[in-house]
Amino acid sequence: MSAIEEIKQKLDIVEYIGQFVTLKKVGRNFHALCPFHSEKSPSFVVSPERQLWHCFGACGEGGDVIKFVMEWENCTFGEALHILAPLANVKLDEISVNDQVWDERIKMLQVTALAADFFHYIFTQHRIGEAARRYVASRQVSASTIKAFRVGYAPDSWDSLSKFLRAKKIRNDVIVQTGLGTMGKHSAVYDRFRGRIMFPLTDTRGAIMGFSGRILNTKDKEAKYINTPETPLYHKRETLFGIEQASLAIRTKEEVIIMEGEFDVMMAHQFGYTQSVGIKGTALTTEQIHLLKRLTHTFIFCLDMDKAGTEAIKRGIERSQEYDLSLYVMRLSGGKDPADLLTSDPSAFKRAYKEKVSIYDFLLETSVARHDVTKVYGQKEVIDELAPVITTITNPVVYEFFIKKTAQATGTDIATLKDAIRIYRRTQRKKTPSTKLNTPAAHEHMAEDYAIALIVQSPQPAETIDIALEYLDFDSFTQPATGELIKELKAYLTNHESFPTGDAYISNPSLRPLFNRAFLIRVPLDSTRINTELKKIALTLKKQMLHKRIQDSPSSEETKKLVTALRSVEKELSVV
Ligand SMILES: [Zn+2]
Repeated sequence: MSAIEEIKQKLDIVEYIGQFVTLKKVGRNFHALCPFHSEKSPSFVVSPERQLWHCFGACGEGGDVIKFVMEWENCTFGEALHILAPLANVKLDEISVNDQVWDERIKMLQVTALAADFFHYIFTQHRIGEAARRYVASRQVSASTIKAFRVGYAPDSWDSLSKFLRAKKIRNDVIVQTGLGTMGKHSAVYDRFRGRIMFPLTDTRGAIMGFSGRILNTKDKEAKYINTPETPLYHKRETLFGIEQASLAIRTKEEVIIMEGEFDVMMAHQFGYTQSVGIKGTALTTEQIHLLKRLTHTFIFCLDMDKAGTEAIKRGIERSQEYDLSLYVMRLSGGKDPADLLTSDPSAFKRAYKEKVSIYDFLLETSVARHDVTKVYGQKEVIDELAPVITTITNPVVYEFFIKKTAQATGTDIATLKDAIRIYRRTQRKKTPSTKLNTPAAHEHMAEDYAIALIVQSPQPAETIDIALEYLDFDSFTQPATGELIKELKAYLTNHESFPTGDAYISNPSLRPLFNRAFLIRVPLDSTRINTELKKIALTLKKQMLHKRIQDSPSSEETKKLVTALRSVEKELSVV
């Protein structure tokens, strides 16, 4: 057995996925809200018998446990194997993971780890790091915080890191690939980070993807902070400073505090707010929300309270609403950033944490503060600002509550306010045509998928397939794969009683996903009902086909014929 097969056999897909997603037993399968798209009713199905999962909703993803890890961790096949192998107690050898992307990644991660060690050594031990040490100490960062976040210093030189890495037998092209060096003339490699305090940027498991460097001598005209450019490892939009150090606390405290910069996050951890991460910019990205919502659904914004910070929160709210998050805001007194407030007045920070307000209250407060609500124009301004936020509230209790609050704060009456919201909604709807998920095409496929499900899940598949062949009209299928798969199943069932686990006996590999998916669709369990369902599906498909032919009909004579046929199918369907 190959290592891949062994991993799949030793791990239980329900148990594995169940760690991250709340699964509910329904019939022979488990159902859940899909973790890969946002939805209100569950369309994510896991089959313990087949060791497969599939989303029947918007994303349509599916596969085995390895595919799940690839989606969940956003990683390659090889990487997924490396994550699962230790859990399954399976040793991977070179042959089992012939994955170039993975090899390249490993090589780059070795380089970033070496660089982090180098920077950290210079910062903590070397005389070159003296000024950086003094600066960081002046910001009250303790030795243990420095160690926990592996703070470093990049010497103010063109090639000290590159020289160090080359001595460790790292090739120039790999140094450039990690973003730590830039290629100059005559293929010389120069260090990207020079004279900067270095902060490693990691994933949740501590692998170093890139760095952020803060200039030490602020008199220099260079940018205060520079980051690793986009590389195969480092993607700015997915990065959260401190996620490695915070992830356990985020899970146990069931909340995350979202800050902006490195010093904010380090000081927060030092003062016990270990659930804090830094977004490294002014906006919370969709990718960051995705990463965080796996850990918690409560987000607390602790950003600078200038205009930019407020905008970040607003943009955050638009995206976060999709994911059913509870959002709070900490209001820091005196316009200080979190790091400054923590060092100067930790009790004020604690108060701000305790007195955090819901995002709606926060936006209402700031909006009312900016406009004169004693005048009708001021009221209008506030309502205009809040309407986009109010319309995103899906919970009716929260909605009513916030409407009431807004009415009170602006001195408007509730009915007027609700009218304003309705008008706003109407204009929005005109702007964005709704993208309905249940397109007719998807629906037709569902009927065909259901027909296959009835066959493969039948207690007597060999009998059921004959009934299916009798009822189903192959011309009515909208996806050619349906007919091909049914033919393959018929061929198999001519010599066999039922289907074993796996899908290797489906000779056309492109039909296997359709076959596997069919085990995840819920069907009746007794053969009589299966037969009736098959007849219903056959008629439904025929009806759909006739509808389409009527639309494309070239002559009225033809149309008449088709309509007659349609009527008789409809009549038959009504008595099944
Ligand atoms: Zn989905």
